[in-house]
Amino acid sequence: MKTVVCSFCLKSGILCQKCSARLKSGEITELDLSVARLLLSLEEKYPALQSVTFYRVVDAGGTLALIVGSGDVPRLLGFGGKIMKALGDLTGKSVRVLECGGDDRKFLEDLFAPLSIMTINTIWLPDGSTETRVILGRRRGSHVRFDVNALKEIAQKVRNMTLRVEFAD
Ligand SMILES: [Zn+2]
Repeated sequence: MKTVVCSFCLKSGILCQKCSARLKSGEITELDLSVARLLLSLEEKYPALQSVTFYRVVDAGGTLALIVGSGDVPRLLGFGGKIMKALGDLTGKSVRVLECGGDDRKFLEDLFAPLSIMTINTIWLPDGSTETRVILGRRRGSHVRFDVNALKEIAQKVRNMTLRVEFAD
């Protein structure tokens, strides 16, 4: 697994000068470090994690969003959701996985998975700012298992995107 800190620091638990300087400057956070260590501890059991790049974690109250490399989302969601379950159990939070980069639609699909996105459009407000309106399709018989406000906060923090979330009837 590739992470924000060098592999020596991740494995030893002691930060080298370079990594501790990055921690002090705020480039990386304690939370990034602890999630990186959690992922590393799961690597042996779930070898698919070995090829994952982990960038950072965004904290929105009870929800964490892991920002990973392009193409890495399926690696984390695989194993019948066992990695996600383990991460949820270990952190005590609801965990979402998002790819670094990519377009808005891909970002929103990952953010709201497993719900489908019916429509995305941009709303221009009188002050010149924009909101992104997302209409989600409801799955028959399934409940929304995530906190919509936390996901809005994540979209703001990760992509500077203000969301307006609606559900299709
Ligand atoms: Zn280091």
